[in-house]
Amino acid sequence: MAAQVDMNKCTMCGGTKEPICVEACPDEAIRVQDSRIVVTEFLCEDCNECGFRCPDHAISIPLELVTF
Ligand code: SF4
Ligand code: SF4
Repeated sequence: MAAQVDMNKCTMCGGTKEPICVEACPDEAIRVQDSRIVVTEFLCEDCNECGFRCPDHAISIPLELVTF
């Protein structure tokens, strides 16, 4: 499992250079590709830091997988 991005909610905060979720991820599992947020599944440790920080509630992992 990994963080899921709802592109209908994501407003690309911070522009394509420094989105909050990219900055927040401790594992560098999030990147911008073709102006969209992409999560690399095998790097994501399901910490949900991106979910806590996203102002649009556009990225999260299923609650039962939050590791802390
Ligand atoms: S859940 Fe954690 S490790 Fe996974 S993409 Fe979000 S911040 Fe990165
Ligand atoms: S923090 Fe949320 S709104 Fe900002 S780029 Fe990431 S998913 Fe989109």
